[in-house]
Amino acid sequence: MPTYIVLLGPPGAGKGTQASLLSEKFNLPHISSGDIFRENIRNNTEMGKLAQTYISKGELVPDDVTVAMIRDRFKKPDCARGAILDGFPRTPPQADSLAEMLTEFGGKVDLVPFITAPTEVLIERLAGRWTCKEAGHIFHNKFNPPKQSGVCDLDQSPLYQREDDKADTVKHRIDVYKQQTAPLINYYLQRGVLTEVNGIASIEDVASQMNTLISLEEK
Ligand code: ADP
Ligand code: AMP
Repeated sequence: MPTYIVLLGPPGAGKGTQASLLSEKFNLPHISSGDIFRENIRNNTEMGKLAQTYISKGELVPDDVTVAMIRDRFKKPDCARGAILDGFPRTPPQADSLAEMLTEFGGKVDLVPFITAPTEVLIERLAGRWTCKEAGHIFHNKFNPPKQSGVCDLDQSPLYQREDDKADTVKHRIDVYKQQTAPLINYYLQRGVLTEVNGIASIEDVASQMNTLISLEEK
């Protein structure tokens, strides 16, 4: 039976960081909608050009574009065993589309760890986030520094600060999260799959909360 885990939480909560650890531990693909958009922007695709107009303002890319992109990603065979979803879904219509897509694999959303942290923590984390150009690996200048400044530990590609991690855009992204994504908390609570995870803890502690949740889910 495939396992699909949706990481929910505001920008900066630690979804990407935890998704990457889970993906390695459970050998499941890490699907980050933000990373796929950024790859399209780098490759200057039509979809990338369109997405960039929303991402640079901290707005959500329209549901139809986002769902089509994720549907395409799900066509790759590695998703049939399950996946760790990071940043998708971000609206209730996206969540409905996800449920439909997963039924094609005989799957469903099994677990939604909801990572919480107060706004001032999110702002500090995003201000210090450094992202790897090659594969989106995530570092923080204070909380998770790379061994060599400006260089990814994993693939030695350059690290950069995301344009949408600027203070003003971050504040807007947090508002957008509250208005458009937070309704998913109730959406998944009602479906009995949401569990809150304390995101203020260290990366290792959050990872161990996550592992406990998954082992409970497996029982
Ligand atoms: P999200 O994907 O939810 O936007 P990230 O995983 O990119 O969040 O994390 C945002 C920033 O905070 C990154 O720089 C990351 O290294 C750092 N970070 C993630 N989790 C923690 C944590 N538990 N404690 C401190 N810093 C963290
Ligand atoms: P992230 O990398 O998850 O922080 O996402 C970066 C940006 O990509 C967001 O601020 C949105 O503009 C866009 N984005 C990522 N995922 C989605 C999604 N599921 N729906 C709409 N827009 C998205």
